[in-house]
Amino acid sequence: MINGLTMDDYPLSLTAVVERAERFHNTAKVVSRRPDGSVDRTTLGACAIRARRLASALAELGVGDGDRVATLLWNQAEHLELYFAVPAMGAVVHTLNPRLHPDELAFIVEDAQDRVIVVDESLLEVFESFRHTHQFEHVISITREGPTPDGMLDFESLIDAAEPMVWPTLDERRAAAMCYTSGTTGRPKGVVYSHRALVLHSLTAALPDALGVSARDTLLPVVPMFHANAWGLPYAAALLGAGLVLPGSRLDSASVLDLLADEQVTMTAGVPTVWMAMLDALDAEPQRWDLSRLDRLIVGGAAVPRSMLEGYDRHGLTVVQAWGMTETAPLGAVSRLPADLEESGTDERYKFRARQGVAMPFVDIRARNDSGDFIEWNDREMGELEVRGPWVAAEYHNGKGADSFTPDGWFRTGDIVRIDHRGCIWICDRAKDMVKSGGEWISSVDLENHLMAHPAVAEAAVIAVPDARWGERPLAVIALRDGAATDPDQLREHLGTEFARWQLPERFEFVTAIPRTATGKFKKITLREQFSAADRP
Ligand code: AMP
Repeated sequence: MINGLTMDDYPLSLTAVVERAERFHNTAKVVSRRPDGSVDRTTLGACAIRARRLASALAELGVGDGDRVATLLWNQAEHLELYFAVPAMGAVVHTLNPRLHPDELAFIVEDAQDRVIVVDESLLEVFESFRHTHQFEHVISITREGPTPDGMLDFESLIDAAEPMVWPTLDERRAAAMCYTSGTTGRPKGVVYSHRALVLHSLTAALPDALGVSARDTLLPVVPMFHANAWGLPYAAALLGAGLVLPGSRLDSASVLDLLADEQVTMTAGVPTVWMAMLDALDAEPQRWDLSRLDRLIVGGAAVPRSMLEGYDRHGLTVVQAWGMTETAPLGAVSRLPADLEESGTDERYKFRARQGVAMPFVDIRARNDSGDFIEWNDREMGELEVRGPWVAAEYHNGKGADSFTPDGWFRTGDIVRIDHRGCIWICDRAKDMVKSGGEWISSVDLENHLMAHPAVAEAAVIAVPDARWGERPLAVIALRDGAATDPDQLREHLGTEFARWQLPERFEFVTAIPRTATGKFKKITLREQFSAADRP
């Protein structure tokens, strides 16, 4: 029947991915490194089988369709089992970032209405810092040492006692997973991923010119599983049968390099801060680790400096830059050298690789300048990048942040870009008022508001300044009230009640008045010129 339904309307749900792991990938390894340095070994197939029992156990606890199950875990096999079990049973896996301030975590679990939470024993202290703010119906702990804490259920005992679940048939448009992104002002916003989005994302992420994942790969995501699904690597691995090496909580360079070498990892992924530190370790002891199997390092979440590309090239290791956002599930673009540039000069090649790349298939891009006109793809004009596609958010949870979406349904990224004639994106600036430090966001607006609540402060503006280790750090520019006095230590102490320690500025600059634009906003461009050395690719 032409123009009718002539093909099987097979749902693109993660159930197919989980079942594939169970049936076909029961020899693909899953290695979890524990906090004491020991490793546990299992397989994708075994995790998928345990996921059926885990799902039944959760169902017995009352988890039903669309219910949110929160995770406070590192990259570890149990997290993968929850990635499998929760979506496949029709519920929503909600990954929590343990590095956030307790107030933010409290807000997030309440906004998401999480019913159950699964906590690793190493994160119990973080959990205790916000548990009283929200009524979880059940708390499940993953305990390797000692007894299960009072009032909590034991993950392993639940699995042992449960029967395997027969997966329900799921509509591909149902919610599968959820992750919060920091808002430019104040509160984080929830992004809800559908099954269809995650399946299509896994498929395209695996394409050769994207991340190029195959059954011959062993993947080590340094990027946490609580950051936008570890960039989709766990599901891509499950779909394709690639091995997974999950490093747990310890991410210092030497111990990650040990794992890369010992487990013969072929592909790894994380934010630039991780790889900068790793490069120093490699430079210091170039012979210590055998990385001959390591084919590519996927680096994204913040701009990759040319020095990093050059540094890894010196060790015969290829860095591939990727661009993405929590709202784009996250892969939006990957920077792979086009064939015609392979023979070009070194300078031209590095220039290209330091850019954010060409949009993934099915991700449409456009950019608009200040006047609202679309820019030409001529490598000169600048505008805010807008995207749409099957794994791009169409809204935030609970209808928040509606102004991030255009009337015709595109998502406003807040990234100011140029686009070249090939469609390669080049991020030049950020419209959103945020500092990205070591891959984690710090809201400059929140810092400013709290600084201005200090009795001695008349005005405060926070800008991002380049930092060799963290990519960016916040710098606070302060104008004091007449006759008032304070110092950086006091201001840090004042901020410390609201912000995590790593979010506090190290540098404070005192000025008589903060320059303003014609519309009365802080003129951050002038402040950046004054206080930070430009260091953009
Ligand atoms: P998140 O939602 O935390 O993943 O942050 C997404 C934001 O990180 C993007 O909007 C960019 O501002 C920034 N970002 C991600 N990847 C890159 C990259 N390769 N280069 C520069 N900035 C990036």
